[in-house]
Amino acid sequence: IVTGMVAGILVGTILQWLMPDGSDLVIPLYLFDFSLRGFFVDGVFEVIGQIFISSLQMLVVPLVFVSLICGTCSLKDTTKLGRIGGKAIGLYLLTTAIAISFAMSLALLVSPGEGVNMVAGTTFTSREAPSLAQVLIQMFPSNPFAAFAQGNMLQVIIFALLFGIAIALSGKAGDRIAAMFEDMSVVVMRLVTILMNIAPYGVFCLLAGLFTDVSLSTFGNLIEYFMVVVAALLLHAFITYPVLLKLLTGLNPLTFLKKMRDTAIFAFSTSSSNATLPITLETTTKKMGVKNSIASFTVPLGATINMDGTAIMQGVATVFIAQVFSQDLTLTDYLMVILTATLASIGTAGVPGVGLIMLAMVLEQVGLPVEGIALIIGVDRLLDMTRTAVNVTGDSMVTVIVGKSEDQFDEAVFNDPDAGKIIE
Ligand code: ASP
Repeated sequence: IVTGMVAGILVGTILQWLMPDGSDLVIPLYLFDFSLRGFFVDGVFEVIGQIFISSLQMLVVPLVFVSLICGTCSLKDTTKLGRIGGKAIGLYLLTTAIAISFAMSLALLVSPGEGVNMVAGTTFTSREAPSLAQVLIQMFPSNPFAAFAQGNMLQVIIFALLFGIAIALSGKAGDRIAAMFEDMSVVVMRLVTILMNIAPYGVFCLLAGLFTDVSLSTFGNLIEYFMVVVAALLLHAFITYPVLLKLLTGLNPLTFLKKMRDTAIFAFSTSSSNATLPITLETTTKKMGVKNSIASFTVPLGATINMDGTAIMQGVATVFIAQVFSQDLTLTDYLMVILTATLASIGTAGVPGVGLIMLAMVLEQVGLPVEGIALIIGVDRLLDMTRTAVNVTGDSMVTVIVGKSEDQFDEAVFNDPDAGKIIE
């Protein structure tokens, strides 16, 4: 997977150099003209890359449904469920709030927006922020099959939890159904490992295609904004998480980061916490030793509601846009940004680019022009990739903390460097 990533970035950069600014290189052959862009970027890379993403997404709903039901049944005691949910949601909100506060402080210190002139870009139409009441109501599916079909994760989670509780309370009939779901879980997990065999090629094609069109030199006066977001993301991943993990569990943060590597690369190349979900689940259970009863609940929940990397981008972007439009924000405004960004992240799925839609809500809350998004949209692709890697690292860290605190954690697996190889 690492080789796929490095090779993809290299090949993409070389193609970028051969075909700058979206141009094509046509080589006349004897019988036909060979288009380099047509064959590689729009051909091989696109086809294999998209098949790879679709096959990951294909696994998400069945995997979450089946493993969450197994997790709930195996807990037996349903009061535990509330406690685990409380801990996970509390930690998710806390890490997001830390992330955004930290990002805004860094942006205020560096002031990436000073001296940047507003340039015309694509316009951006905002959406209205859903109210808390709406978020709560929409968590409950009126039709579970519609929730499956739309891949609405919060609704799938709620249905699976209720179904799992009912199985646990249904005596003999429940035991039979539970056994069936246990078997299903083995089969679905097997499917994950089978599909993982194409992962290195998928990662290679996605990154080669992307890097053919992304070039740092086109960033111009947004480079400072870009750098501040990346710096904040790296600091959060390599300082905040390790410190929190050490403080709350005493586990070795280096081991954790090493085991996160492949999952982070998946998140980086797909830009989607949701598509990465099967890998995050495999990593937290098989490589890190968290029991399925916890991980099957906290990982899908995290992929949906926990987006620390996204919050970091939003924090820096808010400060940046305020500076570009020379608007001063008060302390209350900053607190408002922290609150809205944290709440907006609940109920918004982990798919590419959703962070910008949520940013529109945040900007509106504090009266900043939503058109500011048009300014940064051009450099968002690479940032989306990087912040998604941070998002899934946050999900996994909270999963380990909750697993350890509930004694649903195998420390020997965590410390074994060879535990749970994802690719066979
Ligand atoms: N792509 C991110 C994710 O899936 C969300 C975002 O920041 O746009 O986690």
